[in-house]
Amino acid sequence: MKNLAILGATGSIGASTLSVCQNNPELYRVKLLVASKSVDKMLALCKTFNPDYVAMSCPKATDELAFKLSKTDCRSTLVKNEAELLQLIASVEIDCVMAAIVGGAGLKSTLAAVKAGKEIFLANKESLVMSGQLFIDAVQKSGAKLWPVDSEHNAIYQALSPNLQNSIGHCQLEAEGVSKILLTGSGGPFLNKALSEFPSITPAQAVKHPNWSMGQKISIDSATMMNKGLEYIEARWLFNASREQLQVIIHPQSVIHSMVQYIDGSVIAQMGNPDMRTPIAHVMGGEKRITSGVENLDFFSSPEFSFIAPDFNRYPCLKLAIDACYEGQQATTTLNAANEVAVEAFLNGEIQFTQISQLVDRVLQTSKRQSNSSIEELLLIDSDAKNRALSLIRREILC
Ligand code: NAD
Ligand code: MG
Repeated sequence: MKNLAILGATGSIGASTLSVCQNNPELYRVKLLVASKSVDKMLALCKTFNPDYVAMSCPKATDELAFKLSKTDCRSTLVKNEAELLQLIASVEIDCVMAAIVGGAGLKSTLAAVKAGKEIFLANKESLVMSGQLFIDAVQKSGAKLWPVDSEHNAIYQALSPNLQNSIGHCQLEAEGVSKILLTGSGGPFLNKALSEFPSITPAQAVKHPNWSMGQKISIDSATMMNKGLEYIEARWLFNASREQLQVIIHPQSVIHSMVQYIDGSVIAQMGNPDMRTPIAHVMGGEKRITSGVENLDFFSSPEFSFIAPDFNRYPCLKLAIDACYEGQQATTTLNAANEVAVEAFLNGEIQFTQISQLVDRVLQTSKRQSNSSIEELLLIDSDAKNRALSLIRREILC
């Protein structure tokens, strides 16, 4: 039985992970649950899963949870602060870590697990986008086992040879006969919407993904296709892929979760219903297939499959992300930070849907060259980009 920490336990990936745990009670002991502010959700999880440790990043939520836990017979120990949390994640008490905090907020805890050589189930793509080479170097140095949870990257992983699966971060794709990684995406809710209507898109419309049920931030990222851009950067790092080896294809049905094309013309696709419990069960099962609770794909009632090339006029965020990928680390850290602020501002009704890409573009264009060879420097780039994005919103200087 392995001891599992779930970072982002009250979120969508957290819920799917806990559901896979319940389906396979002999495999994992839920040792540590981490979240931000949702006290009542966390309290309910503590009552059901009885973790040894629980942590909330928000101090007020920590106090409130402590009070509410004291009224129950739950014996979970509350972790007091970030330093204590990072120490616990790195300790012998934890074997595996589901990294599922949303955004750059997940970087420090995910890296703590990486540096301690844990088995990492990586859902938090933003941490890899923010730190790229440093993250991959840390994985290699510690010998951590990195499993891609993002459905596309998990699909790609499943379609690779064992040699490549065992060299995540350092894959020699060409040597193993891979000609292309084909990253699929649904195109989100606005694939067929008239471009003239884009400025009036509301948050409620944008969070409504046609196929997947996910947290708010990734749902907005899917509507702008920034999500596919972040995934493009994620794939570049996980599979050591060059520009020629990476291609984005819109597949509106979300049944094929991505594909790998080989030099002999073979294309291997991974398919399934759009439900994150499948990739989560794949990584949590390790070498063995385990039940996920997801229904089998019904080919006879599945709609036809279609494939479309992405249109950068419709999805300017995708272009910004691909360009940033080849500009370098400072650009991808900046892109991610500006996007986080833009998505939040859009959800709060402060900017229009079309201003998300404008804001990210503006922050990227006004970045000054900064050194980015340590995590501390990357965190400075992140906070600098966020501050500039916020100030642009406040001064309403968007084109
Ligand atoms: P979500 O918004 O549903 O949940 C986010 C979780 O992170 C919550 O538990 C929240 O409390 C926690 N959190 C936020 N800030 C925190 C902080 N500072 N410290 C500690 N905890 C904090 O998000 P989600 O949809 O579950 O996505 C989580 C991550 O997984 C994201 O990086 C996303 O891109 C990735 N991902 C999600 C899906 C999906 O289907 N939801 C698919 C692929 C990848
Ligand atoms: Mg994905």
